[in-house]
Amino acid sequence: VSRVIPVETFDLVIFGGTGDLARRKILPGLFRRFRSGQMPVGSRIIGAARSEMDTAAYRSMIAEAVAEFGGDEKNDTKSLDAFVAALDYVAIDAKGDGGWVELAGLVRSDVVQAFYFSVAPSLFGDLAERLHTHKIANAQSRIVVEKPFGRDLETARALNKTLAAHFDESQIYRIDHYLGKETVQNLMAVRFGNMLFEPLWNNHYVDHIQITVAETVGVGGRGGYYDKSGAMRDMVQNHLMQLLCLIAMEPPNQYGPDEVRDEKLKVIRALQPVAPHHIVRGQYDAGPDGPSYREDAENPRSFTESFIAMKCEIANWRWAGVPFYLRTGKRMKARSSEITVYFKDLGHTIFEGDVARHRNILSIRLQPNEGMDLQVTIKEPGPGGMRLIDVPLDMTFADALGPDAEEVPDAYERLIMDVIRGNQTLFMRGDEVEAAWGWTDPLINGWEARNDVPKHYEAGSAGPEDALAMLHRDGRKWRELK
Ligand code: NAD
Repeated sequence: VSRVIPVETFDLVIFGGTGDLARRKILPGLFRRFRSGQMPVGSRIIGAARSEMDTAAYRSMIAEAVAEFGGDEKNDTKSLDAFVAALDYVAIDAKGDGGWVELAGLVRSDVVQAFYFSVAPSLFGDLAERLHTHKIANAQSRIVVEKPFGRDLETARALNKTLAAHFDESQIYRIDHYLGKETVQNLMAVRFGNMLFEPLWNNHYVDHIQITVAETVGVGGRGGYYDKSGAMRDMVQNHLMQLLCLIAMEPPNQYGPDEVRDEKLKVIRALQPVAPHHIVRGQYDAGPDGPSYREDAENPRSFTESFIAMKCEIANWRWAGVPFYLRTGKRMKARSSEITVYFKDLGHTIFEGDVARHRNILSIRLQPNEGMDLQVTIKEPGPGGMRLIDVPLDMTFADALGPDAEEVPDAYERLIMDVIRGNQTLFMRGDEVEAAWGWTDPLINGWEARNDVPKHYEAGSAGPEDALAMLHRDGRKWRELK
């Protein structure tokens, strides 16, 4: 029985349809949705980009991209042929008039229209404007915008204003692909669909929470861009803060787009300024597998951080006194994204041994192996008396779903289908993005004014010593990266 929920017939225009993101993620994802039967017959995908090429050439480009970046489904050549037959291509200039009349001729007004802005943000305004001057978009059209959404509060506000001049907020889908991950949605299911967790989800029972997004790759290849942004702008302001909001928010009264986003916004507003000694910025040195950050960024004097660890506080009734430790970095020991909730220890034990040794830990893994595990304390099996051990109750989605696991859509494909459905729950609202920059700006300005020099860390390590020390001082330690 297919669990795929059909969507309405659509025309999806991908501006930047020849770009890296389109070829690596968007189109291979759409192919998987096509194969699963979710893309209705008659729907069209229109690539629109700068290169001059015809539709036949575009179709082969995308077939090759699927073959390169797709999973096992790429071997289904029959489906792939049918999929690329639903593709068109228009060579277009976002900054000029070339291609727009042709695009207007291709996009139908009687189906769901979505325009994916997979181009540099400096072109968002041009695209929004020309979609109107050429009378392509209407009051029902949706636009999808990629990150980065500004580089500070001022630029984000300007971008919001530009988009708002042409589209209503209900038409704008600001993508953060972390929100499309199965586990992230499951986080809400676990919190708000069980009796077990929510009653404990507060400062009476939670000791602290850690959010880690560790990557093993460096910035090589995109060093020029990255060097102007750094881990705070590239990862914390969007992905980590979104995860923080979902883990910390109050229960919305229902699972609706504005209900969820209102609650997330309140979390951001309750975030306290972070003292400089609660921020550790790092930059990787050369290691056995590759060059240093400065070589990757081609900037021998760079002070940009490729790692950041912070201790954050949410000043509200639920979370007062519970630290949220955030950490993210490039070229770290392991690729691992995880949210971990450390519950308090019991305070008193009737068994022998150290009461503080055993505690419940709920960890929510975004990658690899999306899933959750809950550490619980049980009696060590066997005749050895009442000895306690901690064991994980493991729920890896791939195991839980069995052979259906491959049906779990990847973040991009799920989010694109949400756009077609008109569901904004997993997209960032304009005020949320601005509030997030409003919190990060003073922190960034602070270290810039102090001429803060990032701490060194060895490539392939767990980050700078100071980041470890920050938790040590609090009598805690980072979850091991593995
Ligand atoms: P890219 O450089 O690979 O592709 C850019 C695309 O824009 C090309 O298709 C190009 O033809 C088109 N383009 C450039 N100038 C144009 C113009 N004047 N008119 C019309 N089309 C024009 O970029 P990318 O890596 O695919 O990134 C696209 C967007 O997605 C960017 O906003 C980027 O920040 C964001 N993003 C990319 C990734 C990624 O993994 N590549 C991840 C997250 C976000």
